[in-house]
Amino acid sequence: MSARRLGIFGGTFDPPHIGHLILAAEARDQLNLDLTVWVLTPDPPHKQGSEIAALEHRLAMVELAIADDPGFFLSHVDIDRPGPHYAVDTVRLLRQQYPGDELIYLMGGDSLQDLPHWYQAEAFLAALDGVGVMRRPGDEIDLSELFAALPMLKDKLNFVTAPLLEISAKQIRHRVTDRRAFRYYLPLEVYRYVLKQGLYQAQPGRGSVGD
Ligand code: ATP
Repeated sequence: MSARRLGIFGGTFDPPHIGHLILAAEARDQLNLDLTVWVLTPDPPHKQGSEIAALEHRLAMVELAIADDPGFFLSHVDIDRPGPHYAVDTVRLLRQQYPGDELIYLMGGDSLQDLPHWYQAEAFLAALDGVGVMRRPGDEIDLSELFAALPMLKDKLNFVTAPLLEISAKQIRHRVTDRRAFRYYLPLEVYRYVLKQGLYQAQPGRGSVGD
Protein backbone atom coordinates (compact mmCIF):
# COMPACT_ATOMS: atom_id res chain seq x y z
CA MET A 1 0.00 0.00 0.00
CA SER A 2 1.38 3.43 -0.86
CA ALA A 3 2.03 5.90 1.94
CA ARG A 4 -0.92 7.95 3.02
CA ARG A 5 -0.61 11.56 4.06
CA LEU A 6 -1.98 11.94 7.55
CA GLY A 7 -2.73 15.23 9.24
CA ILE A 8 -2.28 15.32 13.00
CA PHE A 9 -4.36 17.96 14.68
CA GLY A 10 -3.73 18.35 18.38
CA GLY A 11 -5.69 20.59 20.69
CA THR A 12 -7.49 21.12 23.95
CA PHE A 13 -10.76 21.53 22.04
CA ASP A 14 -12.57 23.24 24.90
CA PRO A 15 -14.83 23.42 22.92
CA PRO A 16 -14.04 22.37 19.33
CA HIS A 17 -15.22 25.25 17.13
CA ILE A 18 -15.58 26.14 13.48
CA GLY A 19 -12.07 27.64 13.44
CA HIS A 20 -10.72 24.15 14.14
CA LEU A 21 -12.92 22.58 11.47
CA ILE A 22 -11.99 25.16 8.85
CA LEU A 23 -8.29 24.73 9.62
CA ALA A 24 -8.57 20.93 9.34
CA ALA A 25 -10.64 21.08 6.15
CA GLU A 26 -8.45 23.66 4.39
CA ALA A 27 -5.33 21.73 5.38
CA ARG A 28 -6.80 18.53 3.97
CA ASP A 29 -7.61 20.25 0.72
CA GLN A 30 -4.39 22.22 0.27
CA LEU A 31 -1.93 19.69 1.67
CA ASN A 32 -3.61 16.64 0.08
CA LEU A 33 -4.24 14.81 3.30
CA ASP A 34 -5.89 11.40 3.14
CA LEU A 35 -6.98 11.35 6.77
CA THR A 36 -6.75 13.78 9.65
CA VAL A 37 -6.19 12.40 13.10
CA TRP A 38 -7.55 14.69 15.81
CA VAL A 39 -5.60 14.33 19.03
CA LEU A 40 -7.29 15.54 22.16
CA THR A 41 -4.78 16.60 24.79
CA PRO A 42 -6.22 15.76 28.23
CA ASP A 43 -4.03 18.09 30.24
CA PRO A 44 -1.99 20.42 28.01
CA PRO A 45 1.41 21.31 29.52
CA HIS A 46 1.05 24.93 28.31
CA LYS A 47 -2.38 25.38 29.89
CA GLN A 48 -1.49 24.28 33.43
CA GLY A 49 -3.41 26.23 36.03
CA SER A 50 -6.26 27.03 33.63
CA GLU A 51 -9.69 25.66 34.21
CA ILE A 52 -10.50 23.17 31.47
CA ALA A 53 -13.75 21.28 30.92
CA ALA A 54 -13.70 17.63 31.94
CA LEU A 55 -12.09 15.29 29.45
CA GLU A 56 -15.34 13.34 28.97
CA HIS A 57 -17.07 16.52 27.78
CA ARG A 58 -14.29 17.53 25.40
CA LEU A 59 -14.13 13.99 24.07
CA ALA A 60 -17.87 13.94 23.44
CA MET A 61 -17.73 17.34 21.74
CA VAL A 62 -14.86 16.41 19.40
CA GLU A 63 -16.71 13.23 18.47
CA LEU A 64 -19.81 15.29 17.67
CA ALA A 65 -17.81 17.88 15.75
CA ILE A 66 -16.18 15.39 13.40
CA ALA A 67 -18.88 12.70 13.24
CA ASP A 68 -20.13 13.43 9.74
CA ASP A 69 -16.71 13.70 8.09
CA PRO A 70 -15.17 10.36 7.12
CA GLY A 71 -11.79 12.06 6.62
CA PHE A 72 -11.57 12.99 10.30
CA PHE A 73 -10.76 10.52 13.03
CA LEU A 74 -10.33 10.97 16.78
CA SER A 75 -7.24 9.32 18.22
CA HIS A 76 -7.04 8.27 21.85
CA VAL A 77 -3.24 8.28 21.75
CA ASP A 78 -2.90 10.92 24.47
CA ILE A 79 -6.00 9.90 26.37
CA ASP A 80 -4.72 6.37 26.87
CA ARG A 81 -1.37 7.36 28.36
CA PRO A 82 -0.37 9.23 31.49
CA GLY A 83 0.78 12.84 31.16
CA PRO A 84 2.56 15.04 30.55
CA HIS A 85 1.36 14.91 26.96
CA TYR A 86 4.14 16.40 24.94
CA ALA A 87 3.56 16.58 21.19
CA VAL A 88 6.93 14.97 20.47
CA ASP A 89 5.79 11.80 22.25
CA THR A 90 2.39 11.93 20.56
CA VAL A 91 3.99 12.04 17.12
CA ARG A 92 6.39 9.21 17.94
CA LEU A 93 3.49 7.05 19.10
CA LEU A 94 1.49 7.85 15.98
CA ARG A 95 4.53 6.90 13.88
CA GLN A 96 4.42 3.47 15.49
CA GLN A 97 0.69 3.21 14.85
CA TYR A 98 0.93 4.34 11.23
CA PRO A 99 4.26 3.05 9.97
CA GLY A 100 5.08 4.12 6.44
CA ASP A 101 2.61 7.02 6.38
CA GLU A 102 3.57 10.67 6.12
CA LEU A 103 2.71 12.74 9.16
CA ILE A 104 1.87 16.41 8.83
CA TYR A 105 1.20 18.30 12.05
CA LEU A 106 -1.47 21.01 11.82
CA MET A 107 -1.55 24.14 13.93
CA GLY A 108 -2.55 27.79 14.03
CA GLY A 109 -0.13 30.68 13.65
CA ASP A 110 -0.08 31.31 17.39
CA SER A 111 1.16 27.77 17.99
CA LEU A 112 3.82 28.15 15.30
CA GLN A 113 5.04 31.31 16.93
CA ASP A 114 5.39 29.43 20.19
CA LEU A 115 6.97 26.33 18.65
CA PRO A 116 10.59 27.04 19.68
CA HIS A 117 9.38 26.81 23.29
CA TRP A 118 7.70 23.43 22.88
CA TYR A 119 9.29 20.55 24.74
CA GLN A 120 12.00 19.02 22.51
CA ALA A 121 10.88 21.11 19.54
CA GLU A 122 13.67 19.88 17.27
CA ALA A 123 12.94 16.24 17.97
CA PHE A 124 9.27 16.99 17.38
CA LEU A 125 10.06 18.39 13.93
CA ALA A 126 12.44 15.56 13.17
CA ALA A 127 9.64 13.07 13.77
CA LEU A 128 7.37 14.82 11.25
CA ASP A 129 7.24 15.02 7.47
CA GLY A 130 5.63 18.43 7.49
CA VAL A 131 3.90 21.15 9.45
CA GLY A 132 0.74 22.82 8.13
CA VAL A 133 -0.03 26.25 9.52
CA MET A 134 -3.12 28.39 9.21
CA ARG A 135 -2.49 32.00 10.22
CA ARG A 136 -4.44 33.42 13.12
CA PRO A 137 -5.31 37.03 13.91
CA GLY A 138 -2.72 38.50 16.23
CA ASP A 139 -0.03 35.93 15.58
CA GLU A 140 3.36 37.50 15.08
CA ILE A 141 5.24 35.10 12.91
CA ASP A 142 8.82 36.07 12.26
CA LEU A 143 10.07 33.43 9.86
CA SER A 144 13.74 34.36 10.05
CA GLU A 145 13.59 34.10 13.84
CA LEU A 146 11.77 30.79 13.65
CA PHE A 147 14.18 29.33 11.09
CA ALA A 148 17.14 30.46 13.17
CA ALA A 149 15.71 28.74 16.24
CA LEU A 150 14.55 25.63 14.35
CA PRO A 151 16.47 25.20 11.07
CA MET A 152 14.56 22.03 10.22
CA LEU A 153 11.35 24.03 9.96
CA LYS A 154 12.42 25.59 6.68
CA ASP A 155 11.88 22.42 4.68
CA LYS A 156 8.82 21.27 6.57
CA LEU A 157 6.64 24.35 6.86
CA ASN A 158 3.57 24.79 4.65
CA PHE A 159 1.08 27.59 5.04
CA VAL A 160 -2.60 26.86 4.57
CA THR A 161 -4.47 29.74 3.01
CA ALA A 162 -7.75 30.76 4.64
CA PRO A 163 -9.53 33.88 5.83
CA LEU A 164 -8.23 34.99 9.21
CA LEU A 165 -10.75 33.77 11.76
CA GLU A 166 -11.04 35.70 14.95
CA ILE A 167 -12.51 32.74 16.79
CA SER A 168 -11.08 31.01 19.83
CA ALA A 169 -12.37 28.53 22.36
CA LYS A 170 -11.64 31.01 25.11
CA GLN A 171 -13.76 33.67 23.47
CA ILE A 172 -16.61 31.17 23.04
CA ARG A 173 -16.39 30.10 26.71
CA HIS A 174 -16.64 33.73 27.72
CA ARG A 175 -19.60 34.28 25.40
CA VAL A 176 -21.44 31.40 27.06
CA THR A 177 -20.60 32.66 30.52
CA ASP A 178 -21.67 36.19 29.65
CA ARG A 179 -24.83 34.95 27.94
CA ARG A 180 -23.87 36.43 24.61
CA ALA A 181 -24.59 34.81 21.24
CA PHE A 182 -22.35 31.85 20.46
CA ARG A 183 -24.48 29.56 18.31
CA TYR A 184 -22.71 29.93 14.98
CA TYR A 185 -19.17 29.60 16.29
CA LEU A 186 -19.81 25.92 16.89
CA PRO A 187 -21.05 22.93 14.91
CA LEU A 188 -24.76 22.51 15.74
CA GLU A 189 -24.30 19.30 17.72
CA VAL A 190 -21.54 20.84 19.82
CA TYR A 191 -23.71 23.88 20.47
CA ARG A 192 -26.53 21.62 21.65
CA TYR A 193 -24.13 19.66 23.85
CA VAL A 194 -22.82 22.82 25.53
CA LEU A 195 -26.37 23.89 26.31
CA LYS A 196 -27.53 20.47 27.48
CA GLN A 197 -24.57 19.95 29.77
CA GLY A 198 -24.56 23.54 31.01
CA LEU A 199 -20.89 23.94 30.15
CA TYR A 200 -19.01 27.21 30.66
CA GLN A 201 -21.70 28.84 32.73
CA ALA A 202 -20.41 30.92 35.61
CA GLN A 203 -20.40 28.95 38.83
CA PRO A 204 -21.70 30.34 42.10
CA GLY A 205 -19.05 32.09 44.09
CA ARG A 206 -16.70 32.23 41.15
CA GLY A 207 -16.05 34.80 38.46
CA SER A 208 -16.13 33.96 34.80
CA VAL A 209 -14.73 30.75 33.39
CA GLY A 210 -10.96 30.43 33.52
CA ASP A 211 -8.63 31.08 30.62
P1 ATP B 1 -8.17 28.52 23.70
O1 ATP B 1 -8.86 29.76 23.25
O2 ATP B 1 -8.86 27.80 24.83
O3 ATP B 1 -6.69 28.69 23.94
P2 ATP B 1 -8.09 27.56 20.94
O4 ATP B 1 -9.29 28.13 20.28
O5 ATP B 1 -6.76 28.18 20.63
O6 ATP B 1 -8.31 27.44 22.51
P3 ATP B 1 -6.98 24.88 20.89
O7 ATP B 1 -7.71 23.61 21.11
O8 ATP B 1 -6.05 25.33 21.94
O9 ATP B 1 -8.08 26.02 20.58
O10 ATP B 1 -6.26 24.89 19.47
C1 ATP B 1 -5.87 23.76 18.74
C2 ATP B 1 -5.13 24.26 17.51
O11 ATP B 1 -6.03 24.98 16.66
C3 ATP B 1 -3.98 25.23 17.82
O12 ATP B 1 -2.86 24.92 17.00
C4 ATP B 1 -4.55 26.58 17.47
O13 ATP B 1 -3.54 27.48 17.04
C5 ATP B 1 -5.47 26.23 16.31
N1 ATP B 1 -6.57 27.20 16.17
C6 ATP B 1 -7.63 27.35 16.99
N2 ATP B 1 -8.44 28.34 16.55
C7 ATP B 1 -7.88 28.82 15.41
C8 ATP B 1 -8.24 29.86 14.49
N3 ATP B 1 -9.33 30.61 14.67
N4 ATP B 1 -7.41 30.08 13.44
C9 ATP B 1 -6.28 29.33 13.26
N5 ATP B 1 -5.89 28.34 14.10
C10 ATP B 1 -6.67 28.09 15.16
